[in-house]
Amino acid sequence: MSEGTTVAVSDRVDEVEAPLRRVFREYGVPRIHWFAVAVAMNLVARLSSLVPPLVLGTAIDAIFSGTNAYSLPLVPQGWLPTEPKAQFWFSVSLIVGAFVVTAVTTWAQAITSDIFAHRSLHAVRVDTFRKMQELDMAFFDEQQTGEAMSILNQDATNLERYLDQALKNGFRLVIMVVAIGALLLSMNWQLALVTLVGVPLMTLFTIWFSRRVAPRYDAVRSSVGDLNTRLENSIGGMQLVKTSNTEEFETDRVEEASWNFYTTNMDVLKLAFLYRPGMRLLAGLSFVATFVVGGLWLFSGPPLFFSGELTVGDFVVFIFLTQRFIDPLAQISNIIDWFENARASGKRIFGLMDTPVRIEDSPDAVELESVDGRVAYDDVTFSYDGEETILEDVSFDADAGDTVAFVGPTGAGKSTAVKLLMRLYDVDEGAVSVDGHDIRDVTVGSLRESIGYVSQETYLFDGTVAENIRYGEFGATRDEIVEAAKAAEAHEFITDLADGYDTQVGERGARLSGGQRQRISIARTVLQDPDILILDEATSAVDTETEVLIQRSLDRLAADRTTFVIAHRLSTVTDAETILVLEEGRVVERGTHQELLEEDGLYANLWAVQAGEIDDLPDEFVDRARGDV
Ligand code: ATP
Repeated sequence: MSEGTTVAVSDRVDEVEAPLRRVFREYGVPRIHWFAVAVAMNLVARLSSLVPPLVLGTAIDAIFSGTNAYSLPLVPQGWLPTEPKAQFWFSVSLIVGAFVVTAVTTWAQAITSDIFAHRSLHAVRVDTFRKMQELDMAFFDEQQTGEAMSILNQDATNLERYLDQALKNGFRLVIMVVAIGALLLSMNWQLALVTLVGVPLMTLFTIWFSRRVAPRYDAVRSSVGDLNTRLENSIGGMQLVKTSNTEEFETDRVEEASWNFYTTNMDVLKLAFLYRPGMRLLAGLSFVATFVVGGLWLFSGPPLFFSGELTVGDFVVFIFLTQRFIDPLAQISNIIDWFENARASGKRIFGLMDTPVRIEDSPDAVELESVDGRVAYDDVTFSYDGEETILEDVSFDADAGDTVAFVGPTGAGKSTAVKLLMRLYDVDEGAVSVDGHDIRDVTVGSLRESIGYVSQETYLFDGTVAENIRYGEFGATRDEIVEAAKAAEAHEFITDLADGYDTQVGERGARLSGGQRQRISIARTVLQDPDILILDEATSAVDTETEVLIQRSLDRLAADRTTFVIAHRLSTVTDAETILVLEEGRVVERGTHQELLEEDGLYANLWAVQAGEIDDLPDEFVDRARGDV
C-alpha cells in the first residue's frame, strides 16, 4: 500500500474528462437504435407541429382575404383544390392530420427515448456496482457507504435525466431553431432577422451561465454524498444513539449536513434565478420586436430600412412560429440545468469507474487447486497508509494441517496478518505463499475459495437462516445446511425459532442474538469446507457453555486443515502447533504453549493473568501493551 494508495472517489473526479460524452459513447452507443428512433420521431413530431400555423397563414391570405393564391411549401400545386370551400376543408383536414401525426410521434418519441435512457442507466448502475465490488478493501476503508450509495442512486438518476430529458429537449431545440429559422427566412428574411436577433444574445448568456454554474453543481453533488453519509451513519448507529441519549446531537449533525446541501443548492439557484427569467426576457423581446415591426409593416408599409411586402397571413404565421421558436429557446435553461447536474454526476461515476483495482489476477495467475494448506510468511512488512508500519518482518511457516495462533495486545496486527493471507490487502515487502505459490501469482477467486473466515464481526444478510448458511455455497441442499448447523452447534436454537430454518433474520441479522449470529456464520464456514481456516475471535460472542460446544466443533473443523486462530483467551489455543506472539507488528515470541510458558515472557505473563495466577500484568508488559516502549 505504500505506493499509489487507492484514493476516494472525491479525489478522482477532477481527472475525469468529458463525462457526458463518455456516458453516451460507452452506454448510449450500444443502444443507439432506440435513440435513432427517438430522434426520428422527434423530428417528425416537431415538423408536423409546424403545419397548422403554415396552413393557417395560407388559408387567411387565400381563402379569407384573397390576397394570395392558395399554395403550400413542398406541396405540388396540382394537388391542391381550387374552390375556396374545398380549400377550407382541405386546410382543416391538413391541420387535423398534423395534430394526429404530432400526437402519435410525440408518444412514440417519449417511449423510445425513455427506453433508451432507462436501459442505459440500468447498465451504468450495474457496471458501477460491479466495479465497486472489484475495488480493494482500501477503497472501502476510505469511502463512506453513504457516498457510495449516492453515486449508485442519485448520480445514476441524474445521468438518466440527461439521457432522457436533456437529449430529447436538446434535439427538439435544434430541430425547431433550424426548421423555424429556415422557414421564417424563406418567408420574409428581413422580418426573420428581427426575430432571430435574440439568438446570439441568448447563446452568449447561456455560455456565461454554464461556465459559472458548473463548479457549483460539483459542490451540490458532493454535498449530497456528505448528507447521505451522515444519514447512513446516524441511522446505522441508532442503538448507540438511543442508549447514549444523543438524538439531539445527531439531529444537529444531520441539520448541518442538510444546511450545507441547502446552501450549495442555493448557490446554483441564485444563478438560475437570474438566468431563467433573463432567457425568458430575451425570448420575449424577440417576440415583441417581431410583433412591433410586423404590425407597423402591415399598418403603413415597410418601416425604417425594411422593404417589400408583408401579408396578414405571413404576419400571423410569423407570430405563431416565433412563439414556437421562443418556447424551446427559453427551455435551454432546463437543458443546461440537466446537463450540468449530469456532468457533475458523470464525473463522480467515472471517478469511481477509473479507480484502479490493485488486487486483481496477474496475467499469468494460476488456479489454486486441491490445496494442501502449507502457508508461509516471508519477511512480511505492511502498512495501510504507506506511513505507519503495522506489520514488520513477520515470518513463519505452517505445515498442512497445523494450527497457528496469533496472540498479543490489542492493535498488535493480528487481524491484519490474516487479512494479508486472504489478499484483502497486498504486502508492501516480503511474500505470503500457499503451497509454495506466492499468493499474488494465483487467482484471487481460487485463493479466497480455499480459505474460510469466521470474523469478530459476523455479518448476516437480510433473508432466512438457511439462505445465510448457504451464502457462497448456493447449490447446498437442505440436508447439508442442517448438517453444517449441527456441526456449528446451531441446529437446536434454529429449530426453536418461529419458522426454523426459514426464519427471517432481519437486516444484518438484527433479530438474532450475537451468539446466534456467530454460530450461523460458523455453520456457513462448515458448509464451505475450506482448505484453510481463519478464526478471528470466533467464540467472542457466546456464553461459556456455548463456547465449549463451539470450541468442540471448531476443533473438529480445524483438525484436518491448516487453521489460523486469533485469540485473546489463551485457553483456546493451548493445543496450537505454533503460537506467534505479536507486539507492535513484530513477532516477539514463538513456540508451543509449553515452550512459551518456559520462556517466561509476554505470553507467560498474559497466561498468568488469564489463569488467575496473578492479578495484573507486570508494569513492564502493561507499558509494552500500551506501546509506551
Ligand atoms: P485486536 O486484538 O484489537 O483485534 P489486532 O491485533 O487484530 O487488534 P489489527 O486489527 O490488525 O490489530 O490492527 C492493527 C493496527 O492497524 C491498529 O493500529 C489499527 O488502528 C490499524 N488498522 C486496522 N485496520 C485498519 C485499516 N483498515 N486502515 C488503517 N489502519 C488500520
